[in-house]
Amino acid sequence: MDTVYDDIDSTGVEIVIALRGPCNYNCHYCVTHHEIEKQNLFKLDQLRTMYASIDCFTVTSFECGASEPTLHPQIKELISLAASYGAVSIPTNNSIPPERWLPEPVAHNVLVRAALHPQGEQNLELFIQNLLTAKKMGAHVRCIYVAHPSRLDKVDEYQNRFKKYGIPITLVAFTGEYQGHIYPQSYTTSERDFLGLDTQNWYARLSSEIICREFYGIPCLAGYQSLYIGKDGELHRCENDKSILDEPYDMPMPCRVKWCDCGLLLEELNTLSHEHWSSWRKLCGHTIRTNPKENKDRDYDVLRLKYIELMCRYNPGRIKAIELMCKHTNLDYNTLLICGSSGNDVRNMVRFMQLNHMKSK
Ligand code: SF4
Repeated sequence: MDTVYDDIDSTGVEIVIALRGPCNYNCHYCVTHHEIEKQNLFKLDQLRTMYASIDCFTVTSFECGASEPTLHPQIKELISLAASYGAVSIPTNNSIPPERWLPEPVAHNVLVRAALHPQGEQNLELFIQNLLTAKKMGAHVRCIYVAHPSRLDKVDEYQNRFKKYGIPITLVAFTGEYQGHIYPQSYTTSERDFLGLDTQNWYARLSSEIICREFYGIPCLAGYQSLYIGKDGELHRCENDKSILDEPYDMPMPCRVKWCDCGLLLEELNTLSHEHWSSWRKLCGHTIRTNPKENKDRDYDVLRLKYIELMCRYNPGRIKAIELMCKHTNLDYNTLLICGSSGNDVRNMVRFMQLNHMKSK
């Protein structure tokens, strides 16, 4: 009989593995600007020991820099190992036939995030065929489409085409500069509506808005519920903190670096919600007994205010960045007052911000 997990007990550990090596594509909008890094190799025994010592449900994803993960010489072993402890999420340009890199016995625990890039568009039949093969082998598949301003006109066509095969397509906002404009801020209102940028989950919305990512001193889940195996093969708490850990922490610890671009893992914002774990457990076929209250999607406006409050609480000097954020997203303090869940909390917080701002002048 399947194990039934209560929603509240269904957490786990997120593991990110950094892969480095070549890429067989050359996309014009690549965020890495085609930086070439030396192929890295892992000590698989050391990794096995680490997974065994964590001994709980894990969600492993690959951070690939400018490389194509399915070309990594150890990809099969890495997926096999990680998928025997939980879910695996792999980004790919989907140019390599899955038979060459996807281990079939564990494919049911794998999510293939296949990005349809310009070179993939040139042979769309092959792109679809590779996804259907991965699906047939048992994997979960999804097409990712970077909504670069020059490619927006093709979205409808692809959505219809992929729907026929039961392949969901996720539109991802372009981040960077195009024709002198900075994106995603330069999308028009109708483009924002079309891409659903203002109705995405709270994390996607907030992370595209925040300007200040100085989280020094704020307790963070990195090193505790989220681990990073760097390109050096060693255990780190996250990509930004270069110190090597002997073992994971047993509680959230203050951030020790000046700048975070890892995500929003701060304990009090916590992207790793029960909903996050439940969805990955469901992908692996676990049955979750859901408490609808626990599992409710968290509210963007409330968490946005939490972010602001955290920044003020831990370092009032960061208020300048918060002001910029309000300006940048056309929000003023009065709007903040309206969008808060609890009027008093928000009023106190804004007062706190104003007082600190006056002090700093
Ligand atoms: S850099 Fe980011 S993820 Fe790393 S410890 Fe600091 S806040 Fe956490």
